[in-house]
Amino acid sequence: MKVSFVDLHAQYLSIKAEIDSAIAEVIAESAFIRGRHVDAFERAWADALKVKHCVSCANGTDALYIAMRGLGIKPGDEVITTAHSWIATSETITQAGGRVVFCDTQKDTFNIDPSLIETRITKATVGIIPVHLCGQAADMDEIMAIAKKHNLWVIEDCAQAHLAVYKGKLVGTFGNAATFSFYPGKNLGAYGDAGCIVTNDDRLADWTATFARHGGKGEHVMEGINSRMDGLQAAILNVKLPHLPAWTTARRRVAARYNDLLGHLDRLSTPKVAEDRSHVYHLYVVTTDTRDLLKKTLGDSGITTSLNYPKALPFYPAYAYLGHKPADFPAAYRNQSRILSLPIYPEMTDDMIQCVANRSREVITDASRAGATGAKLAEV
Ligand SMILES: *Cc1c(COP(=O)(O)O)cnc(C)c1O
Repeated sequence: MKVSFVDLHAQYLSIKAEIDSAIAEVIAESAFIRGRHVDAFERAWADALKVKHCVSCANGTDALYIAMRGLGIKPGDEVITTAHSWIATSETITQAGGRVVFCDTQKDTFNIDPSLIETRITKATVGIIPVHLCGQAADMDEIMAIAKKHNLWVIEDCAQAHLAVYKGKLVGTFGNAATFSFYPGKNLGAYGDAGCIVTNDDRLADWTATFARHGGKGEHVMEGINSRMDGLQAAILNVKLPHLPAWTTARRRVAARYNDLLGHLDRLSTPKVAEDRSHVYHLYVVTTDTRDLLKKTLGDSGITTSLNYPKALPFYPAYAYLGHKPADFPAAYRNQSRILSLPIYPEMTDDMIQCVANRSREVITDASRAGATGAKLAEV
């Protein structure tokens, strides 16, 4: 059986009539850029999160950049973020004129380790960008307490965590602002690029909306950028949003099934969910010291997996200028060679889950046996 990493087509087929008519409507109205579908989505997403404002924009990367500009970042300001994320989280700090300061992660959750954040704070620090990686909330109580104590802003990068909950509250509602991506493969995905900033801060909402639209329509009160959500994406998101809770439940069901089937193995760890939060499983990441063998064997059997991400951010050439060594980020460094994202999406059938789990179990059990007898593991 072939199992792909995600199957966006399966989801389309499950809501085809709704999607097709929403697209036809946008075209019939020529509501291509902004317009009523975008307004409706902004309202619906803000209401879903119970925040005052949702400012739509072109993608989740722009959302981070725009939010930082809105919070008044100045050249040379330092922003602390996690060593383990997609590069959008850190590259936008540089784009906005700031300096990237990485902080190591927790070994088990892959999220920023709040106990290390204060060691990274200097006189130049202005903000913290935690990422709710894989769909699990970072330790927001600790992070917000540090931010308050040192008078720093917080932008939550929620690109992987639509509807994830921390202590009864949705992520995206803790920081000064939060950013979302609606890239097609995200838990709530458009059919192209789209993103947004959410905030309860009236001034920030107004500033970011103005900045993202050329500094204002008619009267340009400043120079801005062009970062707009288009009508087709908004109409598609409006169709999909009501399904998101059920899709999230379905992701949790897939994760629970994987946990049952893989949870007892010696040389593989299933995802750890920290206390008081509910994971939305954008990614289901296992860790094992036989990661490369597992990835290759699954691939050879027609099962697509992914590495999110193959290197921790400080170890990419893009950040060579920071001169970091593995010992600076031991948890992120250790995890980068052990993580593997297994296929997960709401439409996965139980047969598919079992196929992935059984094949994984075979590889891990064989490796354990080989390890126990002192035999050398197959090199891949
Ligand atoms: C996807 C993603 C982004 C960027 O979103 P785009 O819409 O692709 O620009 C930012 N941060 C994280 C953690 C992401 O996973």
